[in-house]
Amino acid sequence: MSKHQEHFQIETKAIHGGSIKDEQFGSLATPLYQTSTFTFENAQQGAKRFAGEEQGYIYSRLGNPTTTQLEQTVAALEGTESAAATATGMGAVSAALLANLSAGDHLISSKAVYGCSFALMSHMLTKFGIEVSFVDMTEPENITRAIQPNTKVIFLETPINPNLVVLDLAAIGKIANQHQLISIVDNTFLTPYLQKPAQFGFDLIIHSATKYLNGHGDVVAGIICGSEEMITEIKMTSLKDIGATMSPHDAWLIIRGLKTLPIRMDRHCQNAQQIAEYLESHPSIKQVYYPGLKSHPGHKFIGNQMKAAGGVIAFELDGSLEDGAFFIDQMALLSIAVSLGDAESLIQHPASMTHSPYTPEEREAAGISDTLIRISVGLEHVNDITADLNQAFEKLIKHQGMPKQVA
Ligand SMILES: *Cc1c(COP(=O)(O)O)cnc(C)c1O
Repeated sequence: MSKHQEHFQIETKAIHGGSIKDEQFGSLATPLYQTSTFTFENAQQGAKRFAGEEQGYIYSRLGNPTTTQLEQTVAALEGTESAAATATGMGAVSAALLANLSAGDHLISSKAVYGCSFALMSHMLTKFGIEVSFVDMTEPENITRAIQPNTKVIFLETPINPNLVVLDLAAIGKIANQHQLISIVDNTFLTPYLQKPAQFGFDLIIHSATKYLNGHGDVVAGIICGSEEMITEIKMTSLKDIGATMSPHDAWLIIRGLKTLPIRMDRHCQNAQQIAEYLESHPSIKQVYYPGLKSHPGHKFIGNQMKAAGGVIAFELDGSLEDGAFFIDQMALLSIAVSLGDAESLIQHPASMTHSPYTPEEREAAGISDTLIRISVGLEHVNDITADLNQAFEKLIKHQGMPKQVA
């Protein structure tokens, strides 16, 4: 009996979602097929594999059993027919877009997306004659208004980094279907445990598997989920020929990480909710951005579009850019690092880090204030995280009370 069954709950699929078995020894863990190539019994078999007349592996850029196990598992979680593993999250974004766009096509993207996705669309794709419009998708009519006869693809993510703005997947999915556009969602922040865009008619669901899917901060990886037809097209074009294929070793680590995805996400969400409530009540804070808070405009999507609010929180300190940097420097438990979705809590200050190349005006337009801080809430005991933040606030308050040093 195959354990790959539709009726299983997501917790079971995270553990049993793939069909690759070790027939020879009965290994419980999926074997790591750390090989570049696969041998053929004879020339005829090689010819049949290349012609697609016989199932089987050829070369690891085209497919590998360990990677297949991961692809089947994530496809089962997202509720899609198939998936294609990629070397990084950006490998997934670029492979999905390049497979579906040609010179002369038009792409509509949410104006706020992951920085490198924005760079890919605004700098690289335009070099190859693809037109791009960036629109504010919080008003779905803006998408309808931006549609042209040559519009082919729409691209978005939700919640949007760093202010956790939530977009309406049902409304946007409907527009994409009405206009027969290929719709792509980056689901990195919530994972299929909390949000399944395929239910809203989205064609391709992308992840940076670097983040929650792997969950342990030890790989960079990506994955694209969708119909058998679309995934085969991506594998046979942009993945095969551009080559951002996932290493089998990374696939093996992510298979292990995925087994605990549901329980990790539950704890990330619980911790984040408590910390967001603590932050919201703190006098040193101007604003907290977390869809789990009633004060957040995205709160209305919880319980329908998204099961819970995820593990990323952003907040604005009452102070200056320098205060933002001072605050994160006081952390003893939280690590100062970009990325998210790891067991360790990570904290970063976009104005002095990820978004430091922006001018203050550009940052303001992107909704990134000088004192915005982002936390990827980890799996430590919530009281230890709160205590670390608390001691940093106390030092900040003292620091703000002191006369400014003259440089
Ligand atoms: C990190 C991230 C990416 C890029 O993924 P990499 O694995 O770093 O290439 C894309 N989208 C979102 C939302 C991300 O957080």
